[in-house]
Amino acid sequence: MRINLDSDACQGHNRCYMLAPELFDTDDEGYAVLRIDGEIPKDLEEKAMLAVDNCPEFAIEVADD
Ligand code: SF4
Repeated sequence: MRINLDSDACQGHNRCYMLAPELFDTDDEGYAVLRIDGEIPKDLEEKAMLAVDNCPEFAIEVADD
């Protein structure tokens, strides 16, 4: 399973970072950045889905390989 972050859509709410700090960090301006290189570790897939469901800007997507 892979994760994709649309940086243009991100508004910096940081819900993703609060819910899944293993997957997300913030840049100097408070916008989300990915901490992983696309492929989601199996044990973090649930957290990735949580971040998808809680991003108000629909900026996070996950997809099967
Ligand atoms: S929750 Fe969505 S909009 Fe907010 S920082 Fe994360 S990716 Fe960006």
